[in-house]
Amino acid sequence: MKEYKVAVIPGDGIGVEIVGEALKVLEKVGAKYDTKFNLTEVKAGGCAIDEFSVPLPDATLEVCKNSDAVLLGAVGGPKWDTLPGEKRPEKALMGLRGGLGLYANLRPAKVYDVLKSASPLKEEIINKGVDLLVVRELTGGIYFGERGRDVQNGINSAYDTERYNVEEIKRIAHVAFKAALKRNKKVTSVDKANILESSRLWRETVTEVAKEYKDVELNYLYVDNAAMQLVRDPSQFDVIVTSNIFGDILTDEASMVTGSIGMLPSASLRNDSFGMYEPIHGSAPDIAGKDLANPLAQILSVAMMLEYSFNMTEAAKDIENAVEKVLNSGYRTGDIYTEGSKKVGTKEMAKLVLAEL
Ligand code: NAD
Repeated sequence: MKEYKVAVIPGDGIGVEIVGEALKVLEKVGAKYDTKFNLTEVKAGGCAIDEFSVPLPDATLEVCKNSDAVLLGAVGGPKWDTLPGEKRPEKALMGLRGGLGLYANLRPAKVYDVLKSASPLKEEIINKGVDLLVVRELTGGIYFGERGRDVQNGINSAYDTERYNVEEIKRIAHVAFKAALKRNKKVTSVDKANILESSRLWRETVTEVAKEYKDVELNYLYVDNAAMQLVRDPSQFDVIVTSNIFGDILTDEASMVTGSIGMLPSASLRNDSFGMYEPIHGSAPDIAGKDLANPLAQILSVAMMLEYSFNMTEAAKDIENAVEKVLNSGYRTGDIYTEGSKKVGTKEMAKLVLAEL
């Protein structure tokens, strides 16, 4: 029997509810595939502020570092909104990404056939299908570059610097190409190489890395065009690889294309198999504790963990298929409900997925 250590951070709000359900799915899959997951639950976010006065206690980071993967719910809520920046729950996310060296953020955006009406795009566009993966560089670029304020010619000024080195670009490009090999073998590199020097280095480096992946087709788009193409014809994309700031913006746009925030998982990876897995949505304080949250993004985050950290591709597919079957049978949580479908709560939705497994 294989064994893995998983750090579990339910966090705040609906995080607690949906992580609880997702763990049932993990347990069931473990039994089926003769794998034991040793779970250690730790605190981060608002609940950690309440108990330890900091959003990310050292002990939490330590447990994560000593695990094979981290499963995270969501952090934050109105109770902590008035705290200064450094003490806010969301600071825990930065601490985890930086502290664990998670440089690659993977966000799939997929429109399920039966949920097409949730997309804000026109039917003829969405009918062509959307199943793409954005690979965003997460620990470099302008969010981490030199910044400051000064006075120039007597006028107050501020600056932020976009800087990438070849190694940073290479490693994220490899993540994208490897992901493409498991998908439809197409990578679109997004930059602003017509203007920015850092983008020209980005493009040169991605082109070099591509030579190691002869089976993968590579094309390039300027970020402004990519933003437009995502809503004009998202079906053209398989894997998109891009910098931290462009990825930040494009991932939100891509998730909006699907129209269902409660359905989308994400992974943040480093260069071994270690990763942190979480839904893209927040702690949804407006519906917390009411059995209203959609647990599917969290359950699909478990599938990503199995695929990327434990190489359990078949088990991950089982979960994805189970989710699809439940949706095809007409069950919906409130966020994806349309007339004629069967409305269920958080627990019931997870139960249906478990039954399909
Ligand atoms: P949110 O994603 O929590 O909620 C936005 C809207 O989507 C709400 O109406 C919510 O009810 C709904 N929603 C979100 N997830 C859902 C689900 N699984 N099922 C059904 N409905 C769902 O974003 P927000 O309201 O801007 O932020 C709330 C808190 O979460 C804030 O404190 C914010 O800082 C935090 N946040 C945390 C993360 C994270 O932990 N990674 C990410 C984003 C926001």
